[in-house]
Amino acid sequence: MLRQYELVDKVLAYDPVADEALINRAYVYATKMHGNQLRHSGDPYFSHPIEVAGILTDLRLDAATIITGLLHDTVEDTEATAEDIASLFGGEIAGLVDGVTKLSQLEWDSEDAKQAENFRKFLLAMSNDIRVLLVKLADRLHNMRTLHHVPKEQKRRRIAQETLDIYAPLAGRMGMHEFREELEDLSFQVINVEARQAIEARLDNFRSESGDVIESIRGQISALFDGTDLDIEVRGRQKRPYSIWRKMQSRSASLEQLSDIFAFRVLVDDEEDCYRALGVLHQRWPSVPGRFKDYISTPKNNGYRSIHTTIVGPEQKRVEIQIRTQDMHDVAEYGIAAHWVYKNPEKLKTENTYADTFGWLRQLVEMLEHGSSAEEFLEHSKLQLFSDQVFCFTPKGMLINLPRGATALDFAYAVHTEVGDTCVGCKINGRHLPLRTQLSNGDEVEIVRSKAQRPVPIWEAYVVTGKARSAIRRALRQEQLEEFVLLGRQMVRSIFEALEKDAADAVIERALGPLGHETLDDLFGAVGEGLLSAQEVLEQVYPRAKESKAGKKAKVRAAEKTDPLNAKPLVRLRGGERGHAIRFAEDTFPLPGDRIVGILTPGEGVVVYPISSPMLEAFDGDERWVDVAWETPEDEAGTFVSRFNIRASNEVGALGAISTLIADYDGNINNMSLAQRDVDFYDMVVDVDVRDLKHATRIINALKGLSVVNAIGRV
Ligand code: MN
Repeated sequence: MLRQYELVDKVLAYDPVADEALINRAYVYATKMHGNQLRHSGDPYFSHPIEVAGILTDLRLDAATIITGLLHDTVEDTEATAEDIASLFGGEIAGLVDGVTKLSQLEWDSEDAKQAENFRKFLLAMSNDIRVLLVKLADRLHNMRTLHHVPKEQKRRRIAQETLDIYAPLAGRMGMHEFREELEDLSFQVINVEARQAIEARLDNFRSESGDVIESIRGQISALFDGTDLDIEVRGRQKRPYSIWRKMQSRSASLEQLSDIFAFRVLVDDEEDCYRALGVLHQRWPSVPGRFKDYISTPKNNGYRSIHTTIVGPEQKRVEIQIRTQDMHDVAEYGIAAHWVYKNPEKLKTENTYADTFGWLRQLVEMLEHGSSAEEFLEHSKLQLFSDQVFCFTPKGMLINLPRGATALDFAYAVHTEVGDTCVGCKINGRHLPLRTQLSNGDEVEIVRSKAQRPVPIWEAYVVTGKARSAIRRALRQEQLEEFVLLGRQMVRSIFEALEKDAADAVIERALGPLGHETLDDLFGAVGEGLLSAQEVLEQVYPRAKESKAGKKAKVRAAEKTDPLNAKPLVRLRGGERGHAIRFAEDTFPLPGDRIVGILTPGEGVVVYPISSPMLEAFDGDERWVDVAWETPEDEAGTFVSRFNIRASNEVGALGAISTLIADYDGNINNMSLAQRDVDFYDMVVDVDVRDLKHATRIINALKGLSVVNAIGRV
């Protein structure tokens, strides 16, 4: 256990102006408050916070963090209160201790929902101040180092699993590899005793057979640089059993491969020397293809930089070598902690390029560059970590990370494209909410799916992530293409049949080459999309065929206002589903029973207009007119929007009477707006979901009977 003066000396060694008296006071306070509490090891309890503080000095953290390490268990485990800490040590330290206490109170439970709940709180707490998390990691590291004293195996396993699942990855995310590896290996010892023992045994075996491999290889690499002006230091180390094991799992490699057991580092002075050293190594020993990685020019997300290479080195053995500068090494070992206060600001400036990969760290660097005081610096170290992101959970507790503003639909696509494509609704924290609902940190999102569902165009407006948007577009385009093919096939067939020509696939295929299409689907798709006319296909196959009169007939029928239900239409509209190849013209609301006609519109397929629409005058030629008709067996209830213009008396209860009546007649109001309001009357536009013309007419007639309705008509 660190003595009081040893701890203080350690801090003063890197921070000469640290508040020595305050550290001393915290040391004494912690020992006094924990009194004669004991650890499982039999040691006095206060040895634990002191060791934690010691670990934090290894990371060269500021005095407030060291003191927080000393005090971190006082509020939770002793009589001390948050107020005591605040009055004795000030608000900053009280805040940090409070943060650590909150983290420690998170109960881990493997039950899914609870796991999500906890993880969420954990993340939220984490985003408050990075120092809280650093203390928590040091706390966990010391607890893991002493875990073997905990008597209950089940508890040991639970803590080890939690460490492996939560804390080790967190340390990794912050670039603290030394921490991560130790946490992982300590967990591995508990969770998979046999595997670890087996690896240890093999390693012992290997060492006794091969002697001191590390020293011999280290010497040979070192000697290689003797004749150069490069100032290098070579370090060799045996990898930890857990990382050896993980590598064996992922590559199913055996233990004999030297490069899986030992790693060597060449430390140089600056970035340029990294590449020069690499040249020296590769000149002497061939490199193993596929194992070279340049994380200097392309740093990892957590800021890690190094050159990795594997060479076929001394005695034809594969040797893994990392080349880096001391600064890169510090970041590799200690991650964000390496960027802490006691760095030369000039140095940080030159490291700016990879500080950029942290984003939030860049802010800290800027603070330093602008010559702010240490206090101001710490004030701003309150992290905005993840402030541009939201963390949500699946019901099974899987964490989904989305940009701020993302919706439940983005979430569905983030889980899996197929989940997105087939989602019909969602529950957010157990409540049914629309798919367009924006998510908040910690939401638990359950996606309701149906195999029959397919993406609809409005979805594009609901999403913010590129992944979701492109998936929706892709699905819509695919669906549209399929419908164009169906429509085109129908159109080609019917024009052939009208002239009593053979319309078999084999016959139509003759038009493929001349018209520049590879497959029948391509050809039909082009016709359905209005890019190629069915007439052209006909003439290509039967050059002397007469011009089809289909378009002309459609136009004539439209003009004559004959009942299209009696005609033999080209296209039939099913209830409700109009899809992508066929749509209604904007601001028209035709209902089954209304007379309609289609206009083939390039790039869109068939656009359907009510015959009375003045917009039809714009279409002169015959060739674009398409005969369409409703296909609505009485029992097949589709839903159509019908738009009513209503003029009502401006009196109390008028609106209520109208909406009640529409509901009574089984109509669903899906939109309503007041167009104009006078003293006596107001005009409104009401969109009502109805089944067909009959249904709409019944509602209109009923509305006419209301005393408050002065006039009503369909748009
Ligand atoms: Mn503790």
